[in-house]
Amino acid sequence: MHPADWRLINGERLEAIPAVLARARGNAVARTLSASEWLLRRKRDGRFVAVGRGGAVRELQRGILERADRDDLAALEHADQRGAAPRPVAGLLRRLHELGLDEAGYADDAGLALVPEPHVLCWAGRDRYRRPLWLLGPAAGAWRAMQRAARADGIVLEAISGYRSHDYQLGIFRRKLARGQSVAEILRVNAAPGFSEHHAGDAMDIGTPGERAAEESFEATPAFAWLQRRAGDFGFTMSYPRGNPHGIDYEPWHWRHGAG
Ligand SMILES: [Zn+2]
Repeated sequence: MHPADWRLINGERLEAIPAVLARARGNAVARTLSASEWLLRRKRDGRFVAVGRGGAVRELQRGILERADRDDLAALEHADQRGAAPRPVAGLLRRLHELGLDEAGYADDAGLALVPEPHVLCWAGRDRYRRPLWLLGPAAGAWRAMQRAARADGIVLEAISGYRSHDYQLGIFRRKLARGQSVAEILRVNAAPGFSEHHAGDAMDIGTPGERAAEESFEATPAFAWLQRRAGDFGFTMSYPRGNPHGIDYEPWHWRHGAG
């Protein structure tokens, strides 16, 4: 399969990515992966739990697939056909309530809306850390075209981060709660799970080599000057300019596709 056709199929509990993307650690795992089409990751704990080929699924470790994971396997096959359609948010809401987070109150206070995850995301290359970068199809194509155009002008644009799941953001919350922080304290620094533009797959953080990720100093770089001039031509707009109505700190690195 050509990389442009690689997909992340997004379920409620599991996500499937092409097996070729995994770096195998041992020979046995390498053989299993090379014979597989899909690699299944449990979103909640980030563990690789199974491989698949056609309709057949094999656990990577006996008993690692929980019953609810197995129920999600059938749903994954349908997710493939749903494309960019948003996934239901009932599971997210349940978990926000478990954290003691009132999503309606938070939405009002922050002036932000709940952001569902899509069913399918497309390969958009790799980010600065060599991790797979997943975006909605149109955003993925636009990002790659914009990166090429910048390169032709002598500017190197790097992706810092693209799609992030609700589980990813919930994980940040769980770790900070475990360290003794309160929900209110965490919310001062992190968006509530479910409320980040990164969940939708059309927003990304952009950087340039030699510049620290997600720092305001990015605004002084030639890369940022280039983005201000040209990003609009590729459908990207800055979500949080200075003095934005959401009261979110200025984020010169955070750009969203198709919003303008
Ligand atoms: Zn961002």
